Amino acid sequence: MGTLAPLLPGSVTLVAGGPGDAGLMTVAGRAAVEQADVLLVDHLAPQEALAWARPDAEVLDVAKLPRGRTTPQERINELLVEHARAGRRVVRLKGGDGFVFGRGMEEVLACADAGIEARVLPGVSSAVAVPALAGIPVTHRGVVHGFSVLSGHVPPGHPTCTLDYAALARSGTTLVLLMGVANLAAITAELLGHGMPPATPAAVVARGGHPDQEVRVAHLADIATAAAGIAPPAVTVIGEVAAFATPTRQLEETR
Ligand code: SAH
Repeated sequence: MGTLAPLLPGSVTLVAGGPGDAGLMTVAGRAAVEQADVLLVDHLAPQEALAWARPDAEVLDVAKLPRGRTTPQERINELLVEHARAGRRVVRLKGGDGFVFGRGMEEVLACADAGIEARVLPGVSSAVAVPALAGIPVTHRGVVHGFSVLSGHVPPGHPTCTLDYAALARSGTTLVLLMGVANLAAITAELLGHGMPPATPAAVVARGGHPDQEVRVAHLADIATAAAGIAPPAVTVIGEVAAFATPTRQLEETR
């Protein structure tokens, strides 16, 4: 059943919440949630996992302040340190894996600066799991031997965009795009402009693992139009493997 050492008073543990369904959390992650004195929870973390917390545990929704604004990262870092210094067992429950576009290392470093060691419990990232929940393998023998995970948060050509889309277009890897719905038209245009074939299969999987999971499939040239109006969060897969997409949820049969 794993080897998770008990959480110590005055400690911080980063727990990977997985992509949405609490059943996709790790055994170690669940054990940490069960022991926590205080939990700082993101809005993409599986809310059902909070049912595992002790009845007297304090749950802080750090995705929202009372006025509905996102808690700044600096404040989250401070809260982790403050609660640990107060001698509590702190669990930071994040969506997916905290080290994949999850700002997890910023929290580890903030704790380290305060002399607190943060333990990291890795887990299931939406980058791999959300495609899988729609029947899409990110690699497939004889078809594609690698995958690239990209953030679409910043559009191509933006001064802060560090991605080399020319290289990505000819990488021969499956492209897995997170946070890419708003910029999907710009990103697909950029890939097409760099010579990616317009008929490359593509799929957008929204709310993966949730009861209202939705899958849209089209060629690269049409996927932005096909995905219009889809409600995030969503993962976009571009590459031959996207043709495996199934409209049904892959989780049902395991329940
Ligand atoms: N650390 C997270 C990713 C955080 S960035 C992880 O490892 O999964 C947030 C992005 O993750 C979203 O914009 C979306 O692209 C993706 N995502 C997270 N949960 C998802 C879900 N249930 N369905 C579809 N996409 C999801």
